[in-house]
Amino acid sequence: MDKIRIENLEVFGNHGVFEEETKLGQKFIISCSLYLDTRKAGQKDDLNASVHYGMVAHLIKKEMEENTFALIEAVAERLAECVLLYDEKIREVEIEVKKPWAPIGLSLEYVSVSIRRKWHEAYVALGSNIGDKEAYILQAIEKLKNRKDCRVKKVSSLIETEPYGVVDQDKFLNGALLVETLLPPQEFLDVLHEIESEANRERTRHWGPRTLDLDIIFYDDEIIQEENLCVPHADMHNRLFVLEPLKEIAPYKRHPVYGKTIAEMVVDLKK
Ligand code: AMP
Repeated sequence: MDKIRIENLEVFGNHGVFEEETKLGQKFIISCSLYLDTRKAGQKDDLNASVHYGMVAHLIKKEMEENTFALIEAVAERLAECVLLYDEKIREVEIEVKKPWAPIGLSLEYVSVSIRRKWHEAYVALGSNIGDKEAYILQAIEKLKNRKDCRVKKVSSLIETEPYGVVDQDKFLNGALLVETLLPPQEFLDVLHEIESEANRERTRHWGPRTLDLDIIFYDDEIIQEENLCVPHADMHNRLFVLEPLKEIAPYKRHPVYGKTIAEMVVDLKK
């Protein structure tokens, strides 16, 4: 990706752990790299195809002046999020927050925090086999759409499928989504669990079969093997009800472990 760099922007802010810092304020120096594709802007000499770095600099100044944080880690996190939300063309950002007057009773040039944040691509499998299945699934999609840290980019059609594993239950409705998210995998999983439990709470009285199932199938090309999270989803390659909707929105997406595309995995499973 190409990069637009704002170097050493001087701004004033009331951030710090000490009371005097939040009352009196001090100088902060911000550097920011925006990662995007500048090819079209460069070819056409057109600002609309790029990102206005002046606007970004003023956005940073405004955020620095209008908020008070104890930590420069929190300052950096807020700035990164604001910049990534500012324009869809910005795919990734690097923020450095320097504090030249850090009150530590010693002379120093500055203390700083640097972070890098980006939009991630997550594929999510959706399922429901109780009540108004379509409504549960559409509600889940709406809840993701309403979050500022998630962008639902593609939605497959919903297909009716036979139950898998435990077969003496109602048919399922299944689908798949491509979501861009600012959330790291565990936080994204927490959001999906929250949406699942909200669906259960709204519609069922007692513990029972699930009204809504949301699974992370892929998260970028990451391979995650944690106690509560396995990505790519451990059993996706055996489940046509996952692969078929996924094929509709991402036939050429390649499994980072098996090395096969979704379309190839469907053919393999049907053999
Ligand atoms: P399920 O019965 O499919 O809803 O499974 C839910 C449990 O699987 C949760 O407690 C998750 O922590 C765990 N899990 C492991 N890997 C994944 C994944 N890729 N997506 C969603 N849940 C996962």
